[in-house]
Amino acid sequence: CGIVGYVGPRDSQSILLSGLARLEYRGYDSAGIAVIDGEGDLEMRKRAGKLSVLRDDLAAHPMPDGTTGIGHTRWATHGGPTDGNAHPHLADDDRLALIHNGIIENFAEIKAELLAEGFTFRSETDTEVAAVLLGREYRATGDLLAAFRAVVARLEGAFTLLAMHQDHPGLVVGARRNSPLVIGLGEGENFLGSDVAAFVEHTRKALAIGQDQIVAITPAGVQVTDFDGAPVEVEPFEVMWDA
Ligand code: GLU
Repeated sequence: CGIVGYVGPRDSQSILLSGLARLEYRGYDSAGIAVIDGEGDLEMRKRAGKLSVLRDDLAAHPMPDGTTGIGHTRWATHGGPTDGNAHPHLADDDRLALIHNGIIENFAEIKAELLAEGFTFRSETDTEVAAVLLGREYRATGDLLAAFRAVVARLEGAFTLLAMHQDHPGLVVGARRNSPLVIGLGEGENFLGSDVAAFVEHTRKALAIGQDQIVAITPAGVQVTDFDGAPVEVEPFEVMWDA
C-alpha cells in the first residue's frame, strides 16, 4: 500500500503513476489517482488489480490531466479488492477526493451517524467515512484545513490520509497517525509520499512528518501543524539513496 501527492506546474498523472510504481514493493491489490484538471474539475480513475490495469485503462480512456493530484495503492482491510472499494473516495458531490492507508477503528460508529443524517456510501471501506465526514465539515466552514482537522480529531486507529478539493486547486492536505508520511521539497513544486521512494526521482530534499501531525502543501511551500493546528518545526533531510 502506498500514497503519493503532487502540487506544482507539471501535469501530475505520470508523476503519480511512477511514484506508485516505486511504492509497489509495499504490496497492494488496487490502485487509483485523482487530479484537479485545467478546468478546475476533479477527475478520478481507480481499478482493482495491478498498476498496469489502471495504466491500460487510462491509456484506453484518457482522463484530463491536472497539476494537483493524489495517488493510492490499496491493501484491502475493509471491503474486498473491487473497483468500487479502491481509493480515491469522493464526497461533497464528487468535488473532493480522499485516500487512506491504514485502518479507521471507529468507522462503524461514524458511518451510522452519517447514514442517519442522510449521507450515502458507495463502498464497503472504512475509508469512505473519512471522505464523507470531510465533505460534511467542509460544507459547514468552506475551510479545507479546518475541516480536515475536524475529521482527524474524530478518527481512531492508524492512518495516512491525503485529501484535496476542487475549490482549492494547488492544495493537498495530509495527516498521519501510526502510519508513515514524508514531504518532498521541490522548486515550485512539492510532494507527499508514504516514503521517499514516491518522489526520489524528482527531489532529494525531504521533511519527516511527526506522529499526529497535519501537512498542507502548495507549489509555494509546506506547512506542518499538530492536529489542533499549532505550527510545528520540521527538520529537512537529504535523501541518501541511489535512485
Ligand atoms: N482500510 C482501508 C481499506 O481497506 C485502506 C487499506 C490500505 O491501507 O490500503 O480500503
